[in-house]
Amino acid sequence: MTKNQEPLKRAILNPATEETLARVKDAGEKEVNSAVSLAKKTFPLWASKSPAERAGLLFAWANLIEENSARLAHLESQNTGKPLKLSQDGDLPFAVDNLRFFASSARVSETPASAEYATGYMSFLKREPIGPVALITPWNYPLMMAIWKLAPALAAGNSCVIKPAELTPLTTLEIAKLALQAGIPEGVINVVLGGEETGKLLTSRPEIKMISFTGDTSTGRKIMSQAAPTVKRAHLELGGKAPFIVFEDADLSAAIQGAVVASFVNAGQDCTAATRLYVHKKVFDRFTADFVRETKKIKLGLFDDPQTDMGPLISEEHRDRVEGFLERAKNIKILLGGNRPSHLKRGFFLSPTIILNAEQKSELVQKEIFGPVVCLLPFKDEAEAIQLSNDIEYGLAASLWTANTQRALRVSSALRFGTVWINDHLPLTSETPHGGFNQSGFGKDLSRMALEEYTVIKHIMADMTGDIRKPWHYTVFGKK
Ligand code: NAD
Repeated sequence: MTKNQEPLKRAILNPATEETLARVKDAGEKEVNSAVSLAKKTFPLWASKSPAERAGLLFAWANLIEENSARLAHLESQNTGKPLKLSQDGDLPFAVDNLRFFASSARVSETPASAEYATGYMSFLKREPIGPVALITPWNYPLMMAIWKLAPALAAGNSCVIKPAELTPLTTLEIAKLALQAGIPEGVINVVLGGEETGKLLTSRPEIKMISFTGDTSTGRKIMSQAAPTVKRAHLELGGKAPFIVFEDADLSAAIQGAVVASFVNAGQDCTAATRLYVHKKVFDRFTADFVRETKKIKLGLFDDPQTDMGPLISEEHRDRVEGFLERAKNIKILLGGNRPSHLKRGFFLSPTIILNAEQKSELVQKEIFGPVVCLLPFKDEAEAIQLSNDIEYGLAASLWTANTQRALRVSSALRFGTVWINDHLPLTSETPHGGFNQSGFGKDLSRMALEEYTVIKHIMADMTGDIRKPWHYTVFGKK
């Protein structure tokens, strides 16, 4: 390569080894415009397919993803560093199930009944696709997040331009190829690569009628303002800072096991991860000792080592960001971790970290760290547990652990979060909605509610009388 042929392409890394997996070229204005034009052109074709036809193609796509799931899981883990078992047994089967769920749901459209709501008129309510939609995804579950958006958007009849996160585009490109193989027409799914600049170009196009975004709350604020000039619908799945409340009567072994998984899954890079463990003061010491003991058993390593429980953080920059929280913190006690594991010489690893004595108002407790860092905090009674849990700008997910059914129901009602688990933390299903309260955003992923997010309601009102002048005309002009 000569000096004049500087590589324009950006390296995509394996964050555990820092090896380059691929090189990609970010989409500029020309590429974004051409993707949006294609989505606009194919929109009428895709929207006019019957729900059964669309469902058939989505099922064919789901089958191909399933057939290729070993290869896709491997690529996903290579690009994110997450253990293969998490991609293989978690992300891939769930994504396939999500796709099948939305394929089936495409055939059931719900609105209030058609009826004569005004005398002499018949009203029909229809759900229609919105138009070409922009789908913007994060790097923590790249394939699954792509399916969470593509599946309902396509099932509802929209064409799409998807922009995966700049660090993790590989599986999105692969599933887009499989969509073509499944028979989904060219131009219905368009992929553009790049980061914020590409995202801004995409969201500014007037042909795009909706922006569905998953990512950081600060980016969500920008998306809202980018949507404003052309009054686009925005669907925002943003950050979280989930409380995990352990009452004194909880099954402590189950809660400790649950806390280890919920805090350190995907190296804590999960919007629903347990990050604030509020534990009743009567059981605080016991919980703390056992939680530390169990967390010590987590094995960090390469994604394809079956012993690996936890991989690296996604990038050097992100690890620096997470470590910044620890460096700035005052008067805390780091019970475990807080350092880079010495046995892993390369990659962006950070040990599971447990913190004591963090203040409720500190950034460690208030801000999303998005890494393997968890704060242990005592509480004295139910009212305080609720107050501390709700004292946050986010509202995505929470859990509570107790043997008392009345208390479980009371506290789950009082918590201001989109999902509240009782005696568990993390599980989601295709049938149930996922989305935030407060600054965790609005709109729901998963479930029939997600399908509805990608539709717009049309009211068609038809005169049934044939009279030229209707009674209501006289109330506007003239006399009877
Ligand atoms: P991010 O906000 O940095 O980026 C998300 C996506 O937005 C990327 O594709 C990025 O390139 C793009 N982007 C950035 N600026 C943009 C702009 N101005 N216009 C258009 N696109 C832009 O988030 P991230 O670091 O990739 O992901 C981590 C975040 O995602 C965390 O906050 C996490 O909580 C959140 N998340 C939320 C959910 C949920 O369901 N609520 C699920 C997964 C992740």
